[in-house]
Amino acid sequence: MDGKGLRFIVSAPSGAGKTSLCKAVLKNINGSFSRPLKWSCSYTTRSPRQGERDGDDYFFVNDREFDRMVQAGEFAEWALVHDRRYGTSQRYLREAEEKGIDLLLEIDCQGARALREKKLAGSYIFILPPSREELERRLRRRGTESEEVIQRRLSRALEEVEEYRFYDYLIINDQFESAVKELEGIILAERDRLSIREAKVKPILDQFRR
Ligand code: 5GP
Repeated sequence: MDGKGLRFIVSAPSGAGKTSLCKAVLKNINGSFSRPLKWSCSYTTRSPRQGERDGDDYFFVNDREFDRMVQAGEFAEWALVHDRRYGTSQRYLREAEEKGIDLLLEIDCQGARALREKKLAGSYIFILPPSREELERRLRRRGTESEEVIQRRLSRALEEVEEYRFYDYLIINDQFESAVKELEGIILAERDRLSIREAKVKPILDQFRR
């Protein structure tokens, strides 16, 4: 692996389509490039949804264990999102960085803000829905939430969109395929920064210098 692992921190209001976007990008990048991109597995106190696996989608823990981790300072950040707690483990981030594994973190705006305030190195990417109307349509299309939950998520979304200004990159998720390409583009460009590539340059240049 080339040097330290990178971090891509993606957040968006609920319903902006960030999970589908992240999953598509993971699949494309891992299918086309030898340098892997890994989904950052967070801890949560919510129950697994159908098809979700512990250690794959999330580490599912109870409130007591989450409290213990908070007390022990094991989280780089944690936040209450829709009445459940979610957190990113400090150790998980450190180990990935040391092993040279690039991580894709899909976390809410509060979490991203906490990481930025800690000056955690990474590319901070905000996904914006094309309009409020479209966001509402997407939230309703899921068909899993009650009207009360939808209204709560919408009013929260209004606060969350204001956060866009604190990020490095902004993607407007209008056409899904274009948004996938834009997110891939950011990740690929960050991987090609000179500071990241430096480790690979010397052996190539040495051949020219012989
Ligand atoms: P869901 O329950 O639908 O998987 O996720 C709900 C929300 O929690 C999403 O906005 C997601 O980005 C956020 N989330 C997931 N993991 C973390 C985390 O480790 N920290 C924070 N702050 N938010 C997270």
